[in-house]
Amino acid sequence: MRILCPNCGDRDIREFYYRGSAQDLHRPNLEDRLSDWHAFLHLRDNTAGEIRDLWYHEKGCNSWLVVTRNTMTHEIIKTELVKNTDERRA
Ligand SMILES: [Zn+2]
Repeated sequence: MRILCPNCGDRDIREFYYRGSAQDLHRPNLEDRLSDWHAFLHLRDNTAGEIRDLWYHEKGCNSWLVVTRNTMTHEIIKTELVKNTDERRA
C-alpha cells in the first residue's frame, strides 16, 4: 500500500506510523466509570466503507496526515495534513 503525502509525494506505507481513527474520541475524565475507560481504550467501530485514520510520516516529513480510505476496496480517497489548532483560530 502506498500513501500520497502532501509534502513528500507518493510513499511506501512502511514510512508511516499508524495512530488510529481520526474521528473525535471522547476521552473520559479520571473519575469516570471503568466502563467508559474500557470503551475509550478498547472499543472501535469496524466500519465497512469510508473511514478517516491518522498516520504519521515518521521516515519522511514528520507530519501527521488524515488518510480517508475505503475498507472494502482499500482505495485511498484523500490524504491531507492535520491542521494545527492555532491555524484554525486565525
Ligand atoms: Zn511526508
